[in-house]
Amino acid sequence: MDRPVPIAEIIEGRHSGRTVTVRGWVHRKRIVGGKAFILVRQEGEVLQCVYDKAEVGQRVWEEAEKVTLESSVVVRGTVREDPRAPGGYELRGEDLEIVGLSADFPIKGGESIEYLLDHRHLWLRSRRLTWVMKVKHSVMQAARRYFIDNGWWEVTPPILTGSAVEGGATLFELKYFGSKAYLSQSAQLYLEVLIYPLEKVWAVTPSFRAEKSRTRRHLAEYWHLEAEAAWMDMWDMMRIVEELVKHVLERVLEERRRELENLGRSLEPLKRAVEERFPAIRYDEAIEILQKKGVEIEWGDDMGADEERELTKEFETPFFVTHFPKQIKAFYMKLDPEDSRLALGFDLLAPEGYGEIVGGSQREDDYDTLLSRILEEGLDPEDYDWYLDLRKYGTVPHSGFGLGLERLVMWIAGLDHIRDATPMPRYRGRIKP
Ligand code: ATP
Ligand code: MG
Repeated sequence: MDRPVPIAEIIEGRHSGRTVTVRGWVHRKRIVGGKAFILVRQEGEVLQCVYDKAEVGQRVWEEAEKVTLESSVVVRGTVREDPRAPGGYELRGEDLEIVGLSADFPIKGGESIEYLLDHRHLWLRSRRLTWVMKVKHSVMQAARRYFIDNGWWEVTPPILTGSAVEGGATLFELKYFGSKAYLSQSAQLYLEVLIYPLEKVWAVTPSFRAEKSRTRRHLAEYWHLEAEAAWMDMWDMMRIVEELVKHVLERVLEERRRELENLGRSLEPLKRAVEERFPAIRYDEAIEILQKKGVEIEWGDDMGADEERELTKEFETPFFVTHFPKQIKAFYMKLDPEDSRLALGFDLLAPEGYGEIVGGSQREDDYDTLLSRILEEGLDPEDYDWYLDLRKYGTVPHSGFGLGLERLVMWIAGLDHIRDATPMPRYRGRIKP
């Protein structure tokens, strides 16, 4: 067999007039007036293959009649430009080999979301989900590129942990050789350990949160991109986040423009985010803005998805919110030296209603202050003895952040639910397939 040609190359016009072999799955099929129109799908792209009963041999015609939706096939034919075909090219079919004849495919269109989620292992073949996976691929590659190009070290923190990072309420507990352990909610504490040998570190790991309620933007398992660096304060780290997000957007606009357009995503907000500086407001100002808009919120309240959505209407690019009341933020955040009611934390919110995609902060680097914050939060200092050690042996000002990759993909691809930003979503009540 000749080298099979990717359909993407054909619709880019690189094989016009040539005889090629293509491998894929039958996406659609109809037979009219002695012609079989078979739409073959490969990596989210489709190619129309036309078999003419009068021209092809009997064996090929029988295969064309027999082949069912989602069968895997090898087709061979000549590429022709045809503005009526999807993608502008079609294949004049000469040969057709059925590799795996498909049984009656259980997804025909019009099914409910629950049904489709139960058939996720098959639904993932849909072009839409394929495009989203390609966008995620480019997001991850671009992020990795940013860190490599800027001298950060990639590390591999553990997933099995002995202590909570983000509060006990969302911890997944498991048996660990006769005692208790947890699935990691965040690699942050371990990344803090690793800045002493490596200064600037980052990792992509799964994070686990036993979120009790189902929302459009929470998963029980998500991919977490986290970074931590010595010698950086909160503002330094916000600049890193801004550069990283801009770099990712630039690359995705370059590499995945077609997928974004296919998804119906307007590119304007993404381009604007590359070009314009991300504004920063303080929590105080955010509360004022919300109160002026008639939202019921008091100083000291945490902002949920609804409040964040309201706030995003005031901005056309991603924007930072900083200086939160310490009681709504984690124990490890450094307190503002100018106002000890506040923590030097920041969130980055995506516009268009999306809300938080990054949470970060400067970390408390003073031993006594950190110990009293641990006690204040009702945590057991013994669980954190190793973490406290970092403040005892050569403490250093440092900062870091965590970015939810599915949250970023959700915004970039313009999805209305986070589950489509990951192939096999996990959330309360869903573990299969
Ligand atoms: P939220 O307030 O939206 O629950 P959080 O404040 O709990 O988020 P952090 O603990 O700061 O989030 O986690 C860092 C980042 O991880 C968040 O900015 C978000 O992008 C992502 N993230 C957090 N929880 C989830 C989740 N359950 N599913 C997907 N992504 C999440
Ligand atoms: Mg949360």
